[in-house]
Amino acid sequence: MIRVAVAGALGRMGSEVIRAVSLADDMELVAAVDVPQAVEKAPSGVAYLISSDLKHAVEQAKPEVLVDFTVADAACANAITALGQGVRPVIGTTGMSADQLGEIEAKAKGVGAFIAPNFAIGAVLMGYFAKIGARYFDSAEIIELHHDQKIDAPSGTAFKMAQDMARERGKAFATNVPEKEAVPGGRGAEWEGLRLHSVRLPGLVAHHEVIFGAQGQILTLRHDSTDRASFMPGVLIAIREVMKLDKLVVGLDNLLSLS
Ligand code: NAD
Repeated sequence: MIRVAVAGALGRMGSEVIRAVSLADDMELVAAVDVPQAVEKAPSGVAYLISSDLKHAVEQAKPEVLVDFTVADAACANAITALGQGVRPVIGTTGMSADQLGEIEAKAKGVGAFIAPNFAIGAVLMGYFAKIGARYFDSAEIIELHHDQKIDAPSGTAFKMAQDMARERGKAFATNVPEKEAVPGGRGAEWEGLRLHSVRLPGLVAHHEVIFGAQGQILTLRHDSTDRASFMPGVLIAIREVMKLDKLVVGLDNLLSLS
């Protein structure tokens, strides 16, 4: 049985992780951590420890893995605390800076840690197909669409896809640069010639589209997460696989034997 703690346990993703881990035959949920205001409203009578103090929760419940769906600054601090106590973090929180990732990477040596901007297996496959497309098309744009409570933009998935596509290609994409921009930002954000567009609306969950264009043809890849349950098979895979790691690994594609 893998002993699992969840940070951000009372949030949208965290509560889904609590459900998924509780149903997994090879895992035991031992602690749920959230901010004090949230913990005050936590359910009573459950078999696991609920706390607003991660260090205390780790000492008491002795998890082997900490799943984190919080906010970027908290996720980094939580990972450093967990790694300091020999607990492997599995992080789904998006929006961490390169410095924060570097800090986690340094601390994860000899322990193991895993970060994925997207745990939906369909989205990971889309990223894989997008890398193939990047070899053959000179122009591409990414549109990501999320619920209106999302605090970072572009999404971690869209940004990682853009980075992977540019790396695969080895040079920047060709892009139309407007001669006139009536409204600043009208062409979206730009990464290595890839244009990134973020849509935020109530009713959406998490949706990504990569559009490749060439003379006389368009190739569109699209993935829709319509329910947060879509992320759970990937989270469970990561919990099992992080137990075998001794350094930081980023991206679910690296755990799925895609080649
Ligand atoms: P949410 O606001 O519903 O939940 C976040 C929770 O974290 C809240 O309960 C909040 O109180 C708690 N929290 C904040 N600071 C904390 C701390 N220091 N310690 C413990 N808990 C703390 O947000 P959400 O929709 O569940 O998303 C959480 C994160 O997961 C976001 O960064 C989002 O982009 C990301 N996300 C990733 C994936 C993926 O597949 N990787 C999928 C969906 C969402």
